[in-house]
Amino acid sequence: MSEKYDVVVIGAGPAGYVASIKAAQLGFKTACVEQWLDEKGKVQLGGTCLNVGCIPSKALLDSSHKYAEARDGLEIHGISVKKPTIDVPLMLARKQTIVDQLTGGIAGLFKHNGVTAISGKGKVLVGAKVEVTNAAGEVMEIEADKIIVAAGSLPVNIPPAPIDNEYIIDSTGALELTDVPGRLGVIGAGVIGLELGSVWRRLGSEVVMLEALDTFLPMMDIQIAKETGKILKKQGLDIRLGARVTKAEVKKGKVEVTYSTAEGEHTESFDKLIVAVGRKPHSEGLFATDSGLTLDERGYIYVNEYCETEAPNVYAVGDVVRGPMLAHKGSEEGVMVVERIAGKQAQMNYDCIPSVIYTHPEIAAVGKTEQELKADGVEYKIGVFPFAASGRALAANDSEGMVKLIAHAETDRILGCHIVGPSAADLVQQVVIAMEFGSSAEDLALTVFSHPALSEAVHEAALAVDGQAIHIANRKKR
Ligand code: FAD
Ligand code: AMP
Repeated sequence: MSEKYDVVVIGAGPAGYVASIKAAQLGFKTACVEQWLDEKGKVQLGGTCLNVGCIPSKALLDSSHKYAEARDGLEIHGISVKKPTIDVPLMLARKQTIVDQLTGGIAGLFKHNGVTAISGKGKVLVGAKVEVTNAAGEVMEIEADKIIVAAGSLPVNIPPAPIDNEYIIDSTGALELTDVPGRLGVIGAGVIGLELGSVWRRLGSEVVMLEALDTFLPMMDIQIAKETGKILKKQGLDIRLGARVTKAEVKKGKVEVTYSTAEGEHTESFDKLIVAVGRKPHSEGLFATDSGLTLDERGYIYVNEYCETEAPNVYAVGDVVRGPMLAHKGSEEGVMVVERIAGKQAQMNYDCIPSVIYTHPEIAAVGKTEQELKADGVEYKIGVFPFAASGRALAANDSEGMVKLIAHAETDRILGCHIVGPSAADLVQQVVIAMEFGSSAEDLALTVFSHPALSEAVHEAALAVDGQAIHIANRKKR
């Protein structure tokens, strides 16, 4: 017999579980279908983000940062410690405890809010029905007034480097290495490659990153990307640009990688190879051909600005639709959709989504880059403040990087903020809030910031936009 719900969500990642909780909070009878199983065969909530993405990667980034700091960063404070050692299995166990705590927390929130978790693979059928196939192969049909598809994304595999989960691994495998590889190759110097490369570099691996593009972090502001490249190079990340991997073969316990550059063909031998060449929407087998859903040319479920698909009463959110593949983007889309289902006039501000790379220092951005504004012919002014002039950053011995604020040349409205530096993720958020309120650089400049704090660098960058910074020599007014 088929059960009827007001809202059925497919996928329990940050897009789907947030949409489910929000829907239940607004009084809708809600079910969330999830195919991920834990080791005991029970439904596992949290999706990529909680299980094999944002959270476990940050756990390892924090552990490895503490290790590297104990090894290299304490002497300057007058602290001497015995050479630290790293127990990798213990580090992994800590990571898993955090993952279990958070995924269990989602299960608790589902229970508390009355969301029904249904274990199985969901497929959208015509007429707002969802077919669910469980692990035993049993099929049932659920009826829904509204369906929200939040099936997420999967790592991209490239034919030259097929994943064998032993020597050639993807991001999930890179979170599970039980020993520190002597030599580690990483294909792709994007967000995930840089984070995972950093973890193992800090723990002692010699890390070579092979990136096909000639430009480092092309989506970032050019000045910030340049500064980041210098900082990461100093940390020992060997980032080779214009290096396209064409072959990876396992031979006698090593991975032999062939890559081509403008100079010709090269080979390198690694103990492990991480393939981090991006992610693709998880849209295969997700809907019946007559369901009305369509894919765009890149395989994302086609949606409009309100995340409505081409099928009536079916929405799609998160990594499975266009836009940046970020957990918070999917969550906010989920909330927007549910609020609209409830009759509210909710909408997303896609121009104001922050993104962060959690290297050390962190790299964070919101809004337009300088190169984008140039290309669009927009007149702008810039304020830059280096952390080397921040008292708080110096006190913490963490003074690499800068804050760069960009404002419209005439209106002074903030158009973007780009940071490489300590706590960049938290600092950029201050500008995200300002931008959401349509703030000008002067509004930020007139705000009182506590002293001494890293956020003073944001204040000074805002002052610098009009040549008014106090703690650096101002560049000539633009
Ligand atoms: P997902 O989290 O992928 O969840 C989709 C869920 O749907 C999965 O649980 C899947 O099993 C389920 N599913 C799929 N198809 C079906 C089906 N047919 N039936 C039932 N269930 C189905 N983002 C950030 O914002 N910050 C970070 O720091 C960050 N770090 C990352 C680090 C790594 C190593 C990786 C891999 C990703 C990282 N991301 C980060 C990206 C982030 O994880 C994703 O953007 C986010 O998880 C997308 O959320 P989602 O809900 O759309 O999809
Ligand atoms: P991101 O999408 O941010 O995770 O970045 C993935 C990166 O992998 C991109 O910068 C791609 O240019 C890079 N990439 C894709 N295929 C290859 C390849 N065969 N060799 C080297 N780099 C690659």
